[in-house]
Parts: sequence; C-alpha cells; structure tokens
Amino acid sequence: AYESFLSELKKRVKPSLFKSAFKDMKLAERSDERILLQVKDSVLKEVIEKNLRPVVEEAAKKVFGPVKVEFTVPSEPVKTPQPQQLELGLFKKSQKKEEELQSNLNPKYTFENFIVGTSNQFAHAAALAVAENPGKAYNPLFIYGGVGLGKTHLMQAIGNYIKKKSPWKKVIYVTTETFMNQLIEALKSDNISSFREKYRNIDVLLIDDIQFIGGKERTQIEFFHTFNALYDAGKQVVLTSDRPPKDIPTLTERLRSRFEWGLIADIQPPDFETRVAILKRKAELEGIEVSDKVIKLIATIIKSNIRQLEGALIKLKAKATLEGKPITERLVRELFSQESPEERAEKRRREISLKLIKTTVSSEFGVDEELLLSSSRKKQVALARQVAMYLAKRIGNYPYTQIAAAFNRDDHTTVLHAVRKVEELRKRDEKINQLLEKLELKVREEVERSS
Ligand code: ADP
Ligand code: MG
Repeated sequence: AYESFLSELKKRVKPSLFKSAFKDMKLAERSDERILLQVKDSVLKEVIEKNLRPVVEEAAKKVFGPVKVEFTVPSEPVKTPQPQQLELGLFKKSQKKEEELQSNLNPKYTFENFIVGTSNQFAHAAALAVAENPGKAYNPLFIYGGVGLGKTHLMQAIGNYIKKKSPWKKVIYVTTETFMNQLIEALKSDNISSFREKYRNIDVLLIDDIQFIGGKERTQIEFFHTFNALYDAGKQVVLTSDRPPKDIPTLTERLRSRFEWGLIADIQPPDFETRVAILKRKAELEGIEVSDKVIKLIATIIKSNIRQLEGALIKLKAKATLEGKPITERLVRELFSQESPEERAEKRRREISLKLIKTTVSSEFGVDEELLLSSSRKKQVALARQVAMYLAKRIGNYPYTQIAAAFNRDDHTTVLHAVRKVEELRKRDEKINQLLEKLELKVREEVERSS
C-alpha cells in the first residue's frame, strides 16, 4: 500500500519536488486512524508540513482511507553544537578582517520583499530554512529556474537575513563570473593563497549562476576544493543556476554529485495572482500610483519574467510623468502594444476572449447564448447583453463596430450606449459593480488559461 501511496503522491507533484521532498520518506507506523511518515530531518518536516500537507493527505486518503497524517524524523543523537567560546574567539581574531570583507549584498533583496506564491513557495521555504539554520538545514542549497524569477533575490535574502541576525558571520555573495575572474587574476599575480584564504574562511558562500562554470576546467577544480573546505567545516553553500545540475554541460561528475548532496529547489514562472501581488508591492515600494485594473492588465500582458514586470511599471511611470497624465489602461496598451511576442500573445488572447465573454456572461445570468445575439428585449436578456458588450470593450478593447457585428447589431451606437449604461450602473449599484469585477477577473483568467 505504501508503494501505491507513493505513486499517488508522484501524480500530484512535479518530479523534482517529489525527489527533494519525498524520496527518502518512510512509513514509520500505520493504524486504522493514522499513518506516521518519517522524513529525513526536522527542516524537511517543517517544509512539508507548511507547504505540502494537503497533497500528502489527499494521496493518503486515496490509498489508506480517511486517516490522520503525521510526520516524524529519525531519532538520532543531536550533533554537539560548536562551543560558544570558539566562535567568540574567532570573532575577535577576525574582526579586523571582517571589516574589509565585502559581502556584496543588495539590502533590497530581503525575505520581506519577496512575494510568495505557488510557483516559488518551495524554494522560499527552503531558503528560509537555510537562513535560519545555516550549515545545518540543507547543504548545499541549489536553487534553479528561468531568467528573472527571483533566484538572486532569494539567495541574497539568505545572506541579508544571516547578516542581520549574526552580524559577525562572514557572508560572501559572488557571481560565478566574478569568482572566475578573481581566480584568474590571482593566478596571474601569483596570489592564489590569498584567494583561497578569502573563500575558505567564511561562514556562508552564495554563488550565483553556477551554470557558467560549465566547461571552465580550472575554475571547476578550484571551486571543488573551496566547496569541500567549506562543506567539511559545516559552512553553508548556496548555489543558483538556470537549470538543474544534471543539465549543466561539461560539469565534472564530482561537482555535479556535490551539487546534489543537499536540496534542489526550483522556481517556476509566477501565476496570475502572484504577478498581481508583485506589481502591487512594487508600486507601493516605488510610490507609483496605479489602479488595480491597470495592474491586472499588466499582469495579463507580461507573464513569464518578474524583472520585465517591474520594468513595465517603471516605464509606465516615466511615460506618465513625461506627459503629465495618469497611468491608464490605454497607456499600458500604447506602451506595450509594440512589444512583439507578448503583444502577439495578447492579440490571441483577445480573439479567444469574445467567445469566452459570451459563454461566461450567459452562464452567470442564466441567459442562453443565442438570446444574447437575438433582439429580445426581456430585461434580464438586455442586461446580460449589455454587460457582455461592455466586457468585450473593456477586456478585448475591440472597436465598437466589431463588437456590434459580434452581437448581430448593425448599429455600433448600440454598443456605445451599452458600455455607457453599464459604466453608470457600476457607479450606482455596488452589487452590479461587484458582479462585474468578478466577471472581469473570471474572463481574464479563463483567457489566460486557454492561451
Ligand atoms: P533571477 O536571478 O532569477 O534572474 P532576480 O532575483 O534578479 O531573478 O529577480 C528579478 C527581479 O524580480 C528582482 O528585482 C527581484 O527583486 C524581483 N523579484 C523576483 N521574484 C520576486 C518575488 N517573488 N517577489 C518580489 N520581487 C521579486
Ligand atoms: Mg540572477
């Protein structure tokens, strides 16, 4: 039964997540009322309990029936903590050097400023666990994901968190490229021993974009030794990459396997809700005034890259300031209408949206779709029709004539009239307003899903 429980779990999570969270899980106890699952350590237990409990319960229910699910960890002797004095002693001796050590951390990249959604919650929980327990939670932590999805932000949040809690700790953030250049420089100037001293006597090494180490033989050898020195001393190593270790070309086997020793966590592109939340936070941070509608529109146009999402807000603000106008949906369209792949996708979405608006409105009002196109003057039908026209204008931004044609009218002023009428209703009638907000969101999400 445990095997089929595992395969139920496998169906419900991505393979990478399954591997990092459930691979070593064991069934410790089982009764009619509950199952007790044993996971590797208390940190993983916490991560699973916080983020993955519903999936586990679902899978358990399927196989074991309605049982209670509990987690435990192996009872092993607690590692003796480092004697306090030793740490204090080191602190004093190295204080002077510490002042010279550059952490290279950007103070903006904190956990507080990081919005958590389903696409990044596992990586976020893992990063937080590492920040709270450096060297002891997961070592190394390997975060991977596409461009502009928050890898550098999360990694530096770990560094900032540790520095804030334990200012004496030596944290270095470095890109793989800088690490490489410093190494080359050190080799050239016969200074390799100070390079080694620098990187082997720190508490936390954050090394960004490790995929660039592929093919760089000398750097791989040096980094291998750096890694071992830190790892053996119980120091934390965090790595990011645009792909998992197994996909980094010409990476020596021994490095690859080390990258896989700890925890591998991926970040996926953000979903609609998360994009909206990020835009709101960013607007707040930058003091940019922008309505929810505009934010939702931006989140609909720009989908896969958080850096572009932020860039869009900045661009909008600059343009609006220049022209002394507020940021409107029109401005958003104006500014991003030239933008190629996304704009093309948006066009496609618009095409889909007319059809979707008709079905959504018809089911919401309980009015047959055919009636929307008919000439029926019944109150409920007329209202539904007007709402559909209004949404077509609002969401699809079609020309009036085209909307008229889509609803079997020859006269485009009918549409104009409908849009105005609904606009007015929205102002007067809070119920209608809420209904429209709900419909808009529903259609936008539907369009998203199907494009
Ligand atoms: P990557 O290193 O994956 O290419 P970055 O960490 O540089 O991406 O993120 C790009 C930008 O997006 C940064 O300004 C970062 O602060 C922001 N960002 C990414 N993810 C989030 C998030 N979840 N919440 C808030 N801001 C985010
Ligand atoms: Mg980065």
